[in-house]
Amino acid sequence: MTETVESRPAADLVGAGDQPQLFIGGRWVDPHSTEKLEVFSPATGERVGSVPLADEVDVDTAVKTARAAFESGVWRNTPPAERAAVLNRAADLINERSADITNLVSAEMGATPTDVATLQQLAGTGVLQGYAAAATDFPWEERRAGLFGETLVTREAVGVVGAIIAWNVPLFLLCNKFGPALAAGCSIVLKPAPETPLNANLLAQTFVDAGVPEGVISIVPGGVAAGQALVDHPDVDKITFTGSTAAGRAIAARCGETLKRCSLELGGKSAAIVLDDVDLEANIHMLVFSAGLINAGQACVAQTRVLVPQSRHDEIVAAMVETAKSFVPGLPTAPGTTLGPLITDKQRQKVEGYVAKGKEEGATAVLDGTRPEGLDDGFYVTPTIFTGVTNDMTIAREEIFGPVISVIAYDTVDDAIAIANDSDYGLAGSIWTADVERGVEVAKQIRTGTLGINWYAIDPASPFGGYKNSGIGRENGREGLESYLEHKSILMPMGYTSES
Ligand code: NAD
Repeated sequence: MTETVESRPAADLVGAGDQPQLFIGGRWVDPHSTEKLEVFSPATGERVGSVPLADEVDVDTAVKTARAAFESGVWRNTPPAERAAVLNRAADLINERSADITNLVSAEMGATPTDVATLQQLAGTGVLQGYAAAATDFPWEERRAGLFGETLVTREAVGVVGAIIAWNVPLFLLCNKFGPALAAGCSIVLKPAPETPLNANLLAQTFVDAGVPEGVISIVPGGVAAGQALVDHPDVDKITFTGSTAAGRAIAARCGETLKRCSLELGGKSAAIVLDDVDLEANIHMLVFSAGLINAGQACVAQTRVLVPQSRHDEIVAAMVETAKSFVPGLPTAPGTTLGPLITDKQRQKVEGYVAKGKEEGATAVLDGTRPEGLDDGFYVTPTIFTGVTNDMTIAREEIFGPVISVIAYDTVDDAIAIANDSDYGLAGSIWTADVERGVEVAKQIRTGTLGINWYAIDPASPFGGYKNSGIGRENGREGLESYLEHKSILMPMGYTSES
């Protein structure tokens, strides 16, 4: 586990304050845009800093810089093992700069620095190391015996990548875009979420310090307009997007117009299936955490539908309520805080709207979330647990992105599997049981991209991604790297055999 990271006030943070320039191609340059993007802490309302709001001209400059670097071959022709070494160095530098980076991320999105270190830094550096390992072992060239004789199959970088990410785990998401793009030999222009642009600059500088050459990486802070400019740019070969299903649909449609490669990591409404043999005491904390309290519920992989057997319903619900009550809302800088704020007031109102809707549709709030006293400057709301939920209710169908858990009772395990699969989404899930192999058999029947038995986590070396409305494509490991490559077949003359 990660040690506690000491919190610092916003004024003392590396990378905070007013940043007058854009990070383009590894250098700080004056923006074309005269507009600024202001960043405020969701916990206190305190101003954290500002960055230039990249306009279409700035996006164009970043993409052209990336294209020139790609065409020059400075990175794509660097041997994969050397590219891997740079990724490993970037992971080491992120760990060395952990206090600066986690404090800045914390100031921007509200989780405690310790939670940022545990959930985002560990996972982010893990995926960088995972992609480095994948690139080192990867079959970049392969000779095959084809119908007409020998064929050389090569894998090559897809080109210039446009990456667009969400605010909820920005350190992890940036690593999961830079990692595979750089392992593959691509150039990358990343648009951070407008809520969390400051840490993206600090991280990009860290990658350059680790050895990424000039021109290869750029950050274009902005909102939807900057994202669209990136998606529509003719010099971008691939878009990789992490965010909501609604935005993913719009982006995929635009990519279709220009036939850009496109991979999408979108929303979820996952299920935690609790089997009747679960060891409740051993698992209750992890169950409640991964169901709805991880990152204050702002997690795409949250398993917010908890399916419990009728035979143990009351006992499980009582333990869940008790556990959820033990989470302590507070400032990210305060020792003991385990529940941060939501990202914006709008998001809090949306969450409260879902809680009202749940009651309206007949569910019972056995734990009723409120705005905690004494934290009035932030966008806090305490956990809600609903019972009496049926899978057709709005709270069971839509992604809420806040600390709201729906308990759905089931009769048989087949019923539980059917309920879990009756969703427009298919991102994550978990099975809770004393019999691991029984859990695996249930997991095999769930139509989602990742599942955990008695916990949930994303493994850096194993594919992660969604079925159905949760996305297209996979990240992490060899499958993640594949998504940033083109395949090429070179047919040798008939009768030719290479010497190797
Ligand atoms: P969002 O879709 O509103 O925004 C995400 C990013 O896309 C932001 O940078 C935003 O500026 C940009 N954007 C929005 N519309 C765009 C458009 N039409 N064209 C180009 N860019 C556009 O999502 P959000 O509210 O910031 O993030 C929360 C969502 O992200 C949730 O649905 C969550 O499940 C999802 N998410 C998914 C994963 C995953 O790996 N599957 C991980 C984290 C978050």
